[in-house]
Amino acid sequence: MKTVYVDNNATTMVAPEVFEAMTPFLTDRYGNPSSMHTFGGKNHADIEEARESVADLIGASDPSEIIFTSCGTESDNTAIISTLRAYPEKRHIITTKVEHPAVLNVCKYLDTAGYRVTYLGVDGEGMIDLNELKTAIDPDTAIISIMYANNETGVIFPVEEIAEIARVRGVVFHTDAVQAAGKIPFKMTGLPVDLLALSGHKLHAPKGVGALYVRKGTKFVPFLIGGHQEQTRRGGTENVASIVGLGVACRLAKKAVEEERTRIKGLRDRLESAILEKVPNTRVNGSTESRLPNTSNVGFEFVEGEAILLKLDEKDIAASSGSACTSGSLAPSHVLRAMGIPFTFIQGSIRFSLSRYNTDKDIDYIMEHLPSVIERLRQISPYGREKA
Ligand code: PLP
Repeated sequence: MKTVYVDNNATTMVAPEVFEAMTPFLTDRYGNPSSMHTFGGKNHADIEEARESVADLIGASDPSEIIFTSCGTESDNTAIISTLRAYPEKRHIITTKVEHPAVLNVCKYLDTAGYRVTYLGVDGEGMIDLNELKTAIDPDTAIISIMYANNETGVIFPVEEIAEIARVRGVVFHTDAVQAAGKIPFKMTGLPVDLLALSGHKLHAPKGVGALYVRKGTKFVPFLIGGHQEQTRRGGTENVASIVGLGVACRLAKKAVEEERTRIKGLRDRLESAILEKVPNTRVNGSTESRLPNTSNVGFEFVEGEAILLKLDEKDIAASSGSACTSGSLAPSHVLRAMGIPFTFIQGSIRFSLSRYNTDKDIDYIMEHLPSVIERLRQISPYGREKA
């Protein structure tokens, strides 16, 4: 039986069209795009075509606003460090308590390196308070870094309003759109965001490629210093195959955005309602109003999330207890803790994240097994026997 894969916020399957487009660059067309000879140099045109596709997906006004990187983490790190280097006199950063480690851990590091960091809290729905943001900005603020959509709950922040607040106050605004890009439509031309990060492997391109959008006119100091690649904004020989793959993935994602909003959201909603109906003592974590169409984070009270995942794994169902970068540690999710979710639910919270490769059959299969998995685990859990 094929694995029922509902962990697409961790990583996605490489689309067959993406794989096909990449193959020539891993076999015959291995030349260096910076070479003088035609054999290498002609690969340059393929990189530029991919740049246009990325720009088109996010509605950037010019492809030159896109810099290819090695991953979402590099894009996030670059956005923050580059801005701090560009404004050396400013020492304050604003972010939130629920960012991915690609932002949160950079901020924690900067905190120990002499910068002042404000971590905005969230309410029970996972939402920030825009008044708290406004109050936090001061003349020393170099950058605001707030994610577009949360990887654990799918909660979408009001990025347009945040960007407008930053613009009015003259502060650079970076958003980590690694989970948003390709799942919800947005257009950089109408969004006053200065820097935006995305990652290939979250939208059916391979792992190890990402992009950073840098709005024209934004002060930018390179993070990776080396050769003249990417207009001297990011040194390092280009990962041509993966960049081409990312370009194709962005074109496919643009076409599939409507499907995300309808079919994929429909599958997610069906799964969520069925769980709430069939499994007692469950809750959905995070706002259901402002949420990615593919994500559902469900808390099962009085059970251990790890135990649920292991039992689902035995049935060839791949889900997750939250961020792939923190799973493996048994620490409870920093996102759910920041939301003030009761501990009895945090422990048993599972993230289901779908993609366009999921079908109704997958949902049926999950619902065939999940209720009995939870029931059995509650029977053997001392908490479950007492309370459920
Ligand atoms: N930001 C968010 C919101 C993510 O979900 C992830 C990956 O899980 C990243 C950044 C890091 O992306 P990458 O794995 O490409 O470094």
